[in-house]
Amino acid sequence: MTTDEYDLIVIGAGGAGSTAAGNAAEMGKHVALIERDKLGGTCLNYGCDPTKTLLHTASVFYHASHASGLGLRISQAKVDWEAVQAHVRQVQETIRGGTLEQASAGIAAQGIDLFMGEAMFTSPHEIRVNGVTLRSKRFVIATGTVAMIPEIDGLSKAGYITNVEAVSLPELPKRLVVIGGGPIGLEFAQMFSRLGAQVTVLERGEQPLPREDPELAMLLCSQLTAEGIRLEFGAEMRCGDIDEHGKHIHLHGKDGKKEDLTADQLLIAVGRKPALDKLNLEAAGVQYTEDGVTTDATLRTNVPHIWAAGDITSKYQFTHVASDQGKLVAHNVFARKPKEFDDRVIPWVTFTDPELARVGMLEAELKEAKIEYRVGRAYFNKLDRAIANNQTFGSVKLLADMDGNILGGHILSANAGELIAPIIYAMRFGLTAKKMAGAMLPYPTMAEAVRWAASQL
Ligand SMILES: Cc1cc2nc3c(=O)[nH]c(=O)nc-3n(C[C@H](O)[C@H](O)[C@H](O)COP(=O)(O)OP(=O)(O)OC[C@H]3O[C@@H](n4cnc5c(N)ncnc54)[C@H](O)[C@@H]3O)c2cc1C
Repeated sequence: MTTDEYDLIVIGAGGAGSTAAGNAAEMGKHVALIERDKLGGTCLNYGCDPTKTLLHTASVFYHASHASGLGLRISQAKVDWEAVQAHVRQVQETIRGGTLEQASAGIAAQGIDLFMGEAMFTSPHEIRVNGVTLRSKRFVIATGTVAMIPEIDGLSKAGYITNVEAVSLPELPKRLVVIGGGPIGLEFAQMFSRLGAQVTVLERGEQPLPREDPELAMLLCSQLTAEGIRLEFGAEMRCGDIDEHGKHIHLHGKDGKKEDLTADQLLIAVGRKPALDKLNLEAAGVQYTEDGVTTDATLRTNVPHIWAAGDITSKYQFTHVASDQGKLVAHNVFARKPKEFDDRVIPWVTFTDPELARVGMLEAELKEAKIEYRVGRAYFNKLDRAIANNQTFGSVKLLADMDGNILGGHILSANAGELIAPIIYAMRFGLTAKKMAGAMLPYPTMAEAVRWAASQL
């Protein structure tokens, strides 16, 4: 069975696909959206939103249990895991704008035809879903990524979970081994540790969070270790049998030390791979690599009427990038002159406590590019608001060229994700360090640290 021809078919209802479909429908175009799992994609269902909810919950519990420094004795703090899970589902429903059925109705109300099923190209202008062939003049591929599973001896026999299961586990694991010490691995490690699990993070690489300022990344790790999380870098592992005691992991540390660990759950967080397996891009002639769909700077693939947006094509795998690209691609598919995606100022945050936020370049990148730069620093242990809040851990590191143009900002602190905003504005709109330092900020606030770092420059 074949239906009418669409102006645009979007595959994937995550941040990129939903935005692209919604914007195209707003332009009065005849649009179909295809989703094989849940509306909202990774971020809402298995990523940003449930993990940030759980991190916040874990943080409240942790600080309640460690509030004696504030003069508080809270002895009854207890985790009710079922209630925590109900809260996560409530948050997801609120962000989604209702139940899955209500959200589907909302999409229909936007004039978009929604198809729930796996999409597969059958020709450059045709796609098959649930036995129906849909035709379209244009397509946007926004199928995102899935967890990459590393080759570790015995892993599949031992059994593992990924972010998909980890955000809705039926019970809290007592002993958790997280494989992967990147941002996702560390966020899960801290949330489960703070909720009471004994957590070990195993990472093959030598350096934690390799995309972050190494000094701040090490400081963050020292804080996680101080909280009781065991971090093993440069570790090789092999999974042994599973028995009534749990899953056994044979660890070969970088110092040559061998050790056996036992866990209730093994959580894999070693990176993401493009969700392309079922799409049959060969039938459409679309080029791709192991990193995802290949596009030019306007997000167009080698097949002129097929475009891609979000994690499936981006090296910056974040929701804010995905939705920005979704908006851009909706414009570009119908535009005579497509615009390029502007990737000059892309911020991101590791949402541990303290948070680690980054925008712009690292010192190592500036050195490699032979760009002369200066560093402005401010330490939270000198800041009145941080002292009052008992949040003195961390610092701001601001990098600028010799004319004071901001080239990068790195913050490790409570709510660093909020504090990075003025640095993003400065970089985006050309505010120099001198101008940043010249603005009066309310006292006492954590944001004063950013101004201090600017005034150092
Ligand atoms: C644990 C975790 C935490 C994260 N936390 C953050 C965070 O705090 N902040 C942040 O900015 N980013 C975060 N991210 C990244 C963020 O989730 C992604 O960048 C974002 O979801 C990308 O959106 P997308 O639309 O490109 O892809 P997705 O959201 O993955 O959506 C793609 C959709 O396509 C569907 N699909 C795939 N193949 C097909 C097919 N053949 N047919 C039909 N449908 C298909 C999928 O089911 C999925 O719903 C996190 C990711 C993870 C895993």
